[in-house]
Amino acid sequence: MWAWVNGEFVRRDQPGIRLEDRGLTFADGLFEVLRTVGGKVLFWDEHLARIRRSARFLGIAFPFTDQKLAAEALELIRRNDVTDGELYLELTRGADPYRQHKYPPSGTEPTLFMLSFPLRTIDAVNWERGATLLTYPDLRHRLCEHKTINLLANVLAKNYAYERGGYEALMCREDARGSYITEGGSSNYFCCRGGRLLTPEIDNIMPGITRAGVIDHARRAGIEVVERRLYLNEFLGADEAFLTSTVSKVMPIRAVDYTTFPAPGPVTRRLMDAFEELIHQELAR
Ligand code: PMP
Repeated sequence: MWAWVNGEFVRRDQPGIRLEDRGLTFADGLFEVLRTVGGKVLFWDEHLARIRRSARFLGIAFPFTDQKLAAEALELIRRNDVTDGELYLELTRGADPYRQHKYPPSGTEPTLFMLSFPLRTIDAVNWERGATLLTYPDLRHRLCEHKTINLLANVLAKNYAYERGGYEALMCREDARGSYITEGGSSNYFCCRGGRLLTPEIDNIMPGITRAGVIDHARRAGIEVVERRLYLNEFLGADEAFLTSTVSKVMPIRAVDYTTFPAPGPVTRRLMDAFEELIHQELAR
């Protein structure tokens, strides 16, 4: 398998990344996971805009143009002979030989690399009959609107769910009114109550590309979408619920802990179909 590192195609077992890279020592970096279908990449512009925005926020230079990087991504996918798959892109603040917290001197090259994988296997039963979630405390920092490579709390949350037979964690924070939901280890959440879609507002959670596509489609289709703080008891009392992510697309939710939902519910079904149509349009562009 090939990887791409700072402009070079390299064998994946000879990565050419320094051990002092701040990505390794400080998790000082960002990433994106993009879906590839038939050798093409979905929603490239949206993913690149998100990582560029966060790179600007963190003061990390983004060393390639989108066009150049897109061409390299397609070549990487071709070399690895991946048709349906995932493209992983990571940007770090680069190597720092002394492992000091202080930002490295200007002129230090950031590290940008890409990996392409065949699509992970997900049991189709999750789309057909719905995924199960387990609630878990949101143990993360205040940078969750940026896709940082600091994912330890997400890893803990997802593995808590896996070990109990679940598909994802439903992470929750607390305020004076009680427990409110944030997101999953790698998914955004929606529920439907009385025909309206409710989803947590972007308040220290990931602005998901799939989430944005679903909201945009729902609004154009005349479905009211409300983005606000969403309490766990409201979510559990919903008519139906679903999750969104690049890899899971739109996936119905069958259960959260011991609460069950009809899955897929009618609104979820509609949005699952609409999202497939959006992918078709994207591939035809
Ligand atoms: N939340 C988190 C924490 C994530 O890591 C992801 C995956 N990027 C998402 C939500 C879903 O975002 P997207 O639709 O862009 O994949």
